[in-house]
Amino acid sequence: MQLKDATLFRQQAYIDGTWQDADSGQTIKVNNPATGEILGTVPKMGAAETRRAIEAADKALPAWRALTAKERATKLRKWFELMMANQDDLGRLMTLEQGKPLAEAKGEIAYAASFIEWFAEEGKRVYGDTIPGHQADKRIIVIKQPIGVTAAITPWNFPAAMITRKAGPALAAGCTMVLKPASQTPYSALALAELAERAGIPKGVFSVVTGSAGDIGTELTSNPIVRKLTFTGSTEIGRQLMQECAKDIKKVSLELGGNAPFIVFDDADLDAAVDGALISKYRNNGQTCVCANRLYVQDGVYDAFVEKLKVAVAKLKIGNGLEDGTTTGPLIDDKAVKKVEEHIADAVGKGAKVVFGGKPHALGGSFFEPTILIDVPGTAAVAKEETFGPLAPLFRFKDEAEVVAMANDTEFGLASYFYARDLSRVFRVAEALEYGMVGINTGLISTEVAPFGGVKASGLGREGSKYGIEDYLEIKYLCLSI
Ligand code: ADP
Repeated sequence: MQLKDATLFRQQAYIDGTWQDADSGQTIKVNNPATGEILGTVPKMGAAETRRAIEAADKALPAWRALTAKERATKLRKWFELMMANQDDLGRLMTLEQGKPLAEAKGEIAYAASFIEWFAEEGKRVYGDTIPGHQADKRIIVIKQPIGVTAAITPWNFPAAMITRKAGPALAAGCTMVLKPASQTPYSALALAELAERAGIPKGVFSVVTGSAGDIGTELTSNPIVRKLTFTGSTEIGRQLMQECAKDIKKVSLELGGNAPFIVFDDADLDAAVDGALISKYRNNGQTCVCANRLYVQDGVYDAFVEKLKVAVAKLKIGNGLEDGTTTGPLIDDKAVKKVEEHIADAVGKGAKVVFGGKPHALGGSFFEPTILIDVPGTAAVAKEETFGPLAPLFRFKDEAEVVAMANDTEFGLASYFYARDLSRVFRVAEALEYGMVGINTGLISTEVAPFGGVKASGLGREGSKYGIEDYLEIKYLCLSI
């Protein structure tokens, strides 16, 4: 593993401030998607261990929420600093279990840490309100209080950042949290727990339970102590979890699938659009919920855009993320490879042409060639579903109204992107796109200072920014008669 600090590699779960094995003694294996090598194991826990973590979170809650925001912020700040001090090791651990290039993994650690830093500060600004009374003897005061015990379920594509953008606001607000990380990438989560402990986050405030998604998930959604669930993952699982949470009317925040359109208008700066497409489409090998999924290019610049994109994609270097110069790692697993292959075969069967890549990479395993398809018809599966892989399907369009209609013709509404220079068009299109986020002349929109989230089947709630902490607060109004 070759970490500078070997104790960051934890193979036990972290519950109530102690490192624990599963009651059954069972484990699950974690592999390196670049080599297939087994990195180690983590406990295969289920409902009983999850219940103990929830009860510990409940026990820890009164003291944690009673601290001042500044006292909580001091500990969170320490957690942030420890993440940054261990950025190399955390990045390496992430590359080993997730496959993304080391530079990208270290970048994610800084991004992940930024949520802890941001919300440590934001916790101090949970302001209430005073409202002029409705009767002469009435005084109305609004206060905001932590929701209580929260649960988080996170995916493998951002093994650290998807955790901190939930744990940061939750802990800053005075909530406690039980986290179930993705089974493909538990080591990043456990390393964060190790650093939380070193930062002085009290026991029970932040627990990490590894193991069976179904068993842990069911306990998290059915245990009445849990007052809120926050989930990032597929729409299918999000829908199921929301249904499970309906029983207790638990609050839910859901960051689900996307189907991002990336539109290039005739008046765009084409080189900038190509740069944006490259980063939006191929970052993390296409495995982000904000990755461009459908590229719409206007007639007048279509051919020129295709040529420029081919040149740019040819420069990508596919390989093991630990090797110098690698820009693109493997896909997470064979299932992911199959999905990309299915989308290519479907589009080609309906008339699309492969102009770059198109098949598994010579490196084998779950490596796949970055791929460009042109003349993709609107009937292709990729027009409706997220590929989550390095496939750029290019659709042609004639005018603004047509492309806005095509872009909005999906159940999803997370990220969208477009390139244009006409100012009136910029505002018209930005307002017409039914998405939670719009990148205008940029392919990279994620930052801790802005509200990340979707509309329609892409989810509920926002993460990051001053809005992100609201998801962990309840509003209480005091009506005082004098
Ligand atoms: P992805 O396809 O990105 O892996 P999933 O929605 O399947 O998306 O997984 C995201 C997270 O949800 C992971 O941590 C996974 O373990 C968890 N998960 C999957 N199925 C369930 C379930 N039935 N209940 C609770 N969590 C689940």
